[in-house]
This record gives sequence, structure tokens and C-alpha cells, in this order.
Amino acid sequence: MYKIPLFDLNFGIEEELAVLDTLRSKWISTGPKTTAFETDFAEILDVRHALALANCTVSLHLAMKILGIGPGDEVICPSLTFVATVNAIRYVDAVPVFADICGDDDLTVDPQDIERKITLRTKAIVVMHYAGFPCAMDEIMRIARIHDLKVIEDACHGPLSEYGGRKLGTIGDVGCFSFFSNKNISTGEGGMLVTNDEGLYEHAKLLRSHGMTTLSYERSKGHSTGYDVVESGYNYRMDDIRASIGVVQLRKLEDDLKKRAEVRQWYEDAFSEVEGAGVPFSGRRGFVSNYIFVVLAGGQSTVLRDTIRDRLHEAGIQTSMHYPPVHRFSIFRQFFCELPVTERVASRLITLPMHSGLTRESVLFIADIMGKAVFC
Ligand SMILES: *Cc1c(COP(=O)(O)O)cnc(C)c1O
Repeated sequence: MYKIPLFDLNFGIEEELAVLDTLRSKWISTGPKTTAFETDFAEILDVRHALALANCTVSLHLAMKILGIGPGDEVICPSLTFVATVNAIRYVDAVPVFADICGDDDLTVDPQDIERKITLRTKAIVVMHYAGFPCAMDEIMRIARIHDLKVIEDACHGPLSEYGGRKLGTIGDVGCFSFFSNKNISTGEGGMLVTNDEGLYEHAKLLRSHGMTTLSYERSKGHSTGYDVVESGYNYRMDDIRASIGVVQLRKLEDDLKKRAEVRQWYEDAFSEVEGAGVPFSGRRGFVSNYIFVVLAGGQSTVLRDTIRDRLHEAGIQTSMHYPPVHRFSIFRQFFCELPVTERVASRLITLPMHSGLTRESVLFIADIMGKAVFC
């Protein structure tokens, strides 16, 4: 195994006890723990409604549904994101229109390119806050208002990240979060949909559980005895076992993020000495989740970057690549368009280890190996 893995779970006895408590309560599906997780999440984000879900992919799907995105509608989205962001657009037979990113120093979607790609069929914009660094939300919300577009925030990378004093995920119409194992909050699988709009929340809640008007927990408590089905919904629920882990993880989040910020600073300092390796978002101020840490190294082809990754691998350092551009995948061939900045960045991207338990020694070791590899 790797000497320095990409990620490490921030789990302790608290998570174990929380799960045990849920198991012993004998209510393990959606119930009081899920409600507690939603309440805590909404409070920490300062948003009116939070709906816990099975994962973020279904959160993105529900976002499309409740915002009325349908067949033939165009949705502008980045290509430098996880494929789920774009798959969700296809679930409702809408058309993904890829927009480029800002540049080497800012890997979030470019508002100017968003504006260029608006047509009469455009219905929504999906943004993704890369590594937890906020997209240019003032500009994007201004464009959305002018053209009457909905805004969905894929905030998987950014729980508690801030933009102008507001938490990411709470600025657009709907925000989507993931609690997959390697995210800032880990529950194994899990997701959350947040919104300040009561109507959108109620609709998402209905669709989460088959379009049924009551939950089995309510029925078990005698609060209701029957139900109606008013729409073709899904089973997109979170269960109380995972939710109870989420409640504990949420309590640890702020401290975890403070440590990640420190790790990022070590990286930035160390890499200022490494010629030929650029650190996107360098010197940015503001509270950021630092879900991942990426550097740019290599050239136009991916050969040099891949050699650098091999060197790191040989030294016991795990790396990854966030992300292979989505517009290049075979399944999205018909939606292909030229994205020069995304391509230029993607051929040089390397994701390095990032988690709150990473030591300064490890960071210096990684920077040292990188420094030697860049000139190989
Ligand atoms: C992890 C992730 C997703 C998918 O989340 P799941 O909970 O695994 O469905 C979507 N978008 C981004 C940007 C992600 O990082």
C-alpha cells in the first residue's frame, strides 16, 4: 500500500458509538437521526432547508426535477468536474452545454464563457466549486438573473466554504453535497440537497420517497395510517445508520478544515520552491474546505505529467487526477465542443494527498520528489 495515501478517514470512537446507538435504537432507516443530520446541516450552512439523500448524484437529479428541467432544455456546465454533474443533466433528457474554466490559476467555470453559450433553450447553469474554491458567484448569479436561468451548485467539494460571507451551496436555487467516503464529511455513501425555497424543498422531499405523502417512520409512530402517491418518485433516501455518522462528522468539520488549510499552506510554501509546478488558487484568502490539493506540471501532452505521477507512485505517494474532462468521454461525444483552457489544464493536472492528518514532513517529502521529477 501507499506510504502516503491520497485521503484518510477522520473517524474515531465517536462514529462507532453513534452507529451502535442507532443499531440499538432498532430504527435504522430514515428517521430521527436523518432529521437530526438535516437540522444540523441546515443550521451550520445557514440555509432554510436540508434534505438528506442516498448520495449526491441523486441530489443533482432531484435538483433537475424540482427546477423543471426537461427534454431538450440546455444546461450549461463545466467539463472539469466529476461525471455525475453531467450525468444528472442527461437523466432528465436535457442537453449539457460545456463551458470552459477561467485559467491556470482558477479552475472554476468561466462566467464569460457561460454567457457566450446561452441560447433561447438555456434553462439552467450548474456550477462546481472546485476543491472548495468558490466560482465567481456574483457574476454567475447576475447572468442567471438577466437570462432568467436556474442555478444549481454542485458543492460536493465545498461544505462550509465561504463566498462573500455566505456558505457555498446556499447562493443558487439548489445546492448539492456528497458524503461519499473520501469527501470532507464521510458516511460511506450519502448526499444532501439544500435550498431556501420551501416549495422546492417539499417537492424534493416528495420525490425522495416514491412520491408518497407520508414516511414509514411517521406511520410507525402512529402519526398517520395511510398514504397517497401523487407523483412518480424514487427511493433516494438516506438511512439513520449513515445519518448518525454524519451528525458526528459534521461536529468535527470545522476543526478538520482548519487543519486542511494548514496542510495547504505547507504545500504552497514548499511548492514556491519547485520550478515548473504551479499551484492553482495560490494565495487565495477566505475559508475554504480544501477537499483536494492539485498542482499543474508537465506540458501539452500528458506524457511528462504521467512520468511525474509514476515517480511519485514509486516513492509511495498516491496521486490522482481531478478530473479527466467530461466532454472527452465517449458517452458525451454528441455534446463535444472546444474547451482550450480545460484541455490545457487537464493535461498537466496532478492531485496530491490531502487530509487533516497529513504531516508537514509528508508534504515536504512530496514536494521534494515532485521537484526532482519535474526535471526528469
Ligand atoms: C463526489 C462528487 C459527486 C458525486 O457524489 P456521490 O455522492 O458519489 O453521488 C458529484 N460531483 C462532484 C463534484 C463530486 O466530487
